[in-house]
Amino acid sequence: MIALVRPVPVLMYHSVARRPTAGTRALSVDPRHFAEQLDHLEREGFTTMTLEELRSARREATEIPERPVVLTFDDGYADFHEVVLPLLADHAATATLFVTTGWVADAGRQAAGTPLDRTVSWSQVDECAAAGIEIGAHSHSHAQLDQLGHSALRDELRRSKTLLEDRLGREVPHLAYPYGYSSARVRRAVYDAGYRQAASVANTAARATANPLAVPRLTIKRTTDIGTFARVVRGQHLPRIFWRERTLTAGYSLVRRSRYLATAVRTS
Ligand SMILES: [Zn+2]
Repeated sequence: MIALVRPVPVLMYHSVARRPTAGTRALSVDPRHFAEQLDHLEREGFTTMTLEELRSARREATEIPERPVVLTFDDGYADFHEVVLPLLADHAATATLFVTTGWVADAGRQAAGTPLDRTVSWSQVDECAAAGIEIGAHSHSHAQLDQLGHSALRDELRRSKTLLEDRLGREVPHLAYPYGYSSARVRRAVYDAGYRQAASVANTAARATANPLAVPRLTIKRTTDIGTFARVVRGQHLPRIFWRERTLTAGYSLVRRSRYLATAVRTS
């Protein structure tokens, strides 16, 4: 056990499916590859933590496992319950699932937005929570939050939090930004809505000093081979593709800096 001073890799998944839909294909991982990734983590002595466990370790300055890793899943696809949950159980691993509340299969009158594949039902959300999975919010309709006016933004953030908290009977302090987008205005609204930590997409490991409302996550895709995965969780020599994605996510202001980093990584 060591003090929390090192960056912690926080991985971002979406769907884990043998046959993804056209909408989820790029960000969907094949179940065999996901199982291989869990085998790798186990073999290399990694311990999975939820974002909540990471936050409380940070807040209370307690020790964390020597090789921590956080697995997060966005959107709330049905394959989390069908495929991911049993594989996590096989590996005694845990994860954080970010649910888009308006996309839940039996959302009823609360239904909003257009899911890209089949999604979990409320009873499946309950089962995941009962199995020790942390449930976080992913907005209500999967809106681009930075494009919304004040009251619509507030509603997206509060409605998803309230629906989850009412269902689960516990606080839901964490959110993942749909599309990984956030701005200073969005982050302020997220904090005002009562969230205490929010996950973005930055393709770098999370440092203890990182802004808790912009926890960086590393994208795991269908094309991420096991060698790349091993380098990503080790936090060393991130391949150039990750830096390129970082520029796409964060916008043009980071382009020059990322090019510099890509060069540094390539030559180090
Ligand atoms: Zn999403």
